[in-house]
Amino acid sequence: MSTKIQKIGVLTSGGDSPGMNAAIRSVVRTCAYHKINCVGIYRGYQGMIEGDFKPMDARSVNNIINKGGTVLKSARCMDFRTKEGRSAAHKQLKAEGIDAFVVIGGDGSFTGAMVFNQEYDFPVIGIPGTIDNDIFGTTFTLGFDTALNTVVEVIDKIRDTASSHNRLFFVEVMGRDVGHIALNAGVGAGAEEILIPEEDLGLERLVESLKRSKESGKSSSIVIVAEGDKTGKNVFELKEYVEKHLPIYDVRVSVLGHMQRGGSPSCYDRVLASRMGVKAVEALLEGKTSLMVGIQDNQLILTPLEMAIKGHTKIDKELIRVSDIMTT
Ligand code: ADP
Repeated sequence: MSTKIQKIGVLTSGGDSPGMNAAIRSVVRTCAYHKINCVGIYRGYQGMIEGDFKPMDARSVNNIINKGGTVLKSARCMDFRTKEGRSAAHKQLKAEGIDAFVVIGGDGSFTGAMVFNQEYDFPVIGIPGTIDNDIFGTTFTLGFDTALNTVVEVIDKIRDTASSHNRLFFVEVMGRDVGHIALNAGVGAGAEEILIPEEDLGLERLVESLKRSKESGKSSSIVIVAEGDKTGKNVFELKEYVEKHLPIYDVRVSVLGHMQRGGSPSCYDRVLASRMGVKAVEALLEGKTSLMVGIQDNQLILTPLEMAIKGHTKIDKELIRVSDIMTT
């Protein structure tokens, strides 16, 4: 591969997700494979501004493919949003001899990378790391599959106790703007209803559906609620509403919270991270820049960062229909 790039930086930025370590490992080892240097940039853009760098060779990433979180740490950095902050980051990169970087993060991190690329013509490639699966240009983001497995495992446990007491559980999962986790985990865990930001089920329909469920002889019910569901009510308000309109139910609430972001990555996320890391480094070596690596139809593709940031993912309508049929 013909390239002037001799040293690539890698950082994780914004919210962490399982699979980030596997992606770091892949970037580091792909650099080693192509005999170029790799530098870990700690604490996202904050570490870039402060020059918090550490050279990484193939052996420095031993035994991290199975670990959740990120060994490079992540951070939210206000200074990178300013020209002065980005100028300081550029000086640090130049001083270290870094020619390009791979950023693993979400759309905020990609916006920072794109702006930096525009200002300094600095080669950058993004890898989508977020459990929300809300990035345009890829069917899967790193961490989504692991988060689904975590959520399904927990809901299975909740169902055990729910059915022992004939209870109704509202389970809140992550997803302020998108319902991908709620919908997929809901179908996977056999939830009675799934409330997501993209579709308004309507509270009356929810009550009707729960009533029918009770009448049909179900011993327990699980309703999955995405954080930003369209009813505009949070899980506790939903509990109150249902208790008021359906006093036959003994209602409980479970908010899953940050456990959804943790844990050892699934095999799918590890493989995806490994593939994306190779693609990101090789894209840089081919002279490509300001692109995000994604996966579509099991093929790795590159999407301009600008499109990845501006585009919106769509909820799977077919899966909504499947969910409706399954609750018959
Ligand atoms: P995520 O990458 O998970 O969406 P954030 O939205 O917090 O997380 O973004 C991560 C970091 O990216 C921010 O802390 C900031 O340093 C940088 N960033 C986000 N938006 C911009 C922007 N408009 N300009 C420059 N940097 C940005």
